[in-house]
Amino acid sequence: MGTKGREIVGMDVDQLLEVLNKAFADEWLAYYQYWLGAKVAKGPMKEAVIAELMQHATDELRHADMVAMRILQLGGTPVTKPGDWYKHTNCGYDAPDDPYVEKLLAQNVKGEQCAIGVYKAMIDLTKDADPVTYNMALQILQDEVEHEEDLQALVEDIQLMLGRG
Ligand code: FE
Ligand code: FE
Ligand code: MG
Repeated sequence: MGTKGREIVGMDVDQLLEVLNKAFADEWLAYYQYWLGAKVAKGPMKEAVIAELMQHATDELRHADMVAMRILQLGGTPVTKPGDWYKHTNCGYDAPDDPYVEKLLAQNVKGEQCAIGVYKAMIDLTKDADPVTYNMALQILQDEVEHEEDLQALVEDIQLMLGRG
């Protein structure tokens, strides 16, 4: 923990740490949902879908790393047990039990839309109080907005390919 770095935070640090740990749990669950989805995917444009899901899995793991680093800087502890991710998560976990690409994409679009809401709320919470967390949340939000658009573009391409466009 950096003492001066913590001192300049103009809000309740314990409240902020809880918000960060909830996002940390979300990122791990999103990582696993994408990672497993990429393994099981079946259906039209499978190769393109798998490539996108794997790229997003990598991004979500990087987000988990960013959030963990910020939790540690603030003197907190990232959730230590995977079982506790479910207790903290905002966005939950949609198991890829149906491997059809359109089903996987719909589940992940829903997850991205939730993540966009989470980081927008983090930005609003920290904008006047904690520029470091604010900057991190802004960087992650930019990725989540890109993720949503990438997935929706794939959904559209599949629709067109199937003559439903
Ligand atoms: Fe993320
Ligand atoms: Fe994402
Ligand atoms: Mg992408």
